[in-house]
Amino acid sequence: MKSRYSLNLGKPFGIKVSVHWTFSLLIAWIVIISINQGLGLTQILIHILFVLTLFACVVLHEFGHSLMALKLGGKVQSITLLPIGGIANITEMPEKAKDEFLVSLAGPMVNVVIALLLWLYTDIIQGIDLAGIEYDTITAVNFPVILMTANLFIVAFNLIPAFPLDGGRLFRSLLSLRMSRLKATGIAKDIGQLFAIFFIFAGLFFNPFLIIIGFFVLLGAKAEYEMVKYKDILKDYKVEDIVKTDNEVLDENDSLGNAAEKITHTYDRGFVITSGGEYAGILTKSDLIKGLNTHGKDGLIKDVMSRDIEGVSIKMPLFDAYKNIHQKRYDIVPVEDDGEFRGIIDLESINEFFIIQKAMS
Ligand SMILES: [Zn+2]
Repeated sequence: MKSRYSLNLGKPFGIKVSVHWTFSLLIAWIVIISINQGLGLTQILIHILFVLTLFACVVLHEFGHSLMALKLGGKVQSITLLPIGGIANITEMPEKAKDEFLVSLAGPMVNVVIALLLWLYTDIIQGIDLAGIEYDTITAVNFPVILMTANLFIVAFNLIPAFPLDGGRLFRSLLSLRMSRLKATGIAKDIGQLFAIFFIFAGLFFNPFLIIIGFFVLLGAKAEYEMVKYKDILKDYKVEDIVKTDNEVLDENDSLGNAAEKITHTYDRGFVITSGGEYAGILTKSDLIKGLNTHGKDGLIKDVMSRDIEGVSIKMPLFDAYKNIHQKRYDIVPVEDDGEFRGIIDLESINEFFIIQKAMS
């Protein structure tokens, strides 16, 4: 999630919490539906307040996952709120089956606790007759009861074994007690995708949100499975095994026209740029095209090249480098050895290497 499309809410426990801009569409949608139903201003405000409270529960759910991951030695970068729910970006995740089980369970457990507290408040303290509650419109009286029901719904929905939903993760962690993580993820992915297709079909008839969640599960399951497969194949290699050292080199004072002329004769994804013979940065293909558009072919490389691309170490495990590059805006990065430039590595060549290794295995 790019942060420029999100509103930052704060950074508790070092985890950046933000709301994605599409969340405003959800609020707009609620307002429109409420107006269509002929509801008054107070009622609309209560509806909005309810949704905000419900999403606060979703944030707490994501903190359940995140804090458990931190406790078990993982790393959590951010929590983003989308109209379909929250996403905790756990960048380093404990892979032991037991740890993964605990991290996946911690989220839904938070909503169980919230529902329990709301039940204590409404049923025991306030003495509300829960069976006689009206669900048609939200009022000050039934607000906490409906919130309790909604939290129980979050628990039930998340426990559906549709990987990568929480239930699917729990399922994978149990499977991986008996088989390899790759195989377990493969089975969890297949079942997750079956559920996803069911969600999409059900969404056509009931609730359009199910369609979005269906696609989210469908693509999420595939992406996570691919990641595990990459890890399985790349785990035995290091950056040094595929670093490119014979890349085309240009000087920062060379013209863009010169670079454009050269790039038509090479398969390289970009050029290594030197200044006085020393490594200075990289001119990516998109730098070149942007530069040609704004400065023309007489423009200089030094005005458009990328100087601040963070490099990877030549000794870095190849999978870590892959993840690292994947998270960045660049698909080509310099490789260094003790601060010394040694060559470049790009996503495309990691992908090719992966395909070749897979074909040979
Ligand atoms: Zn969850």
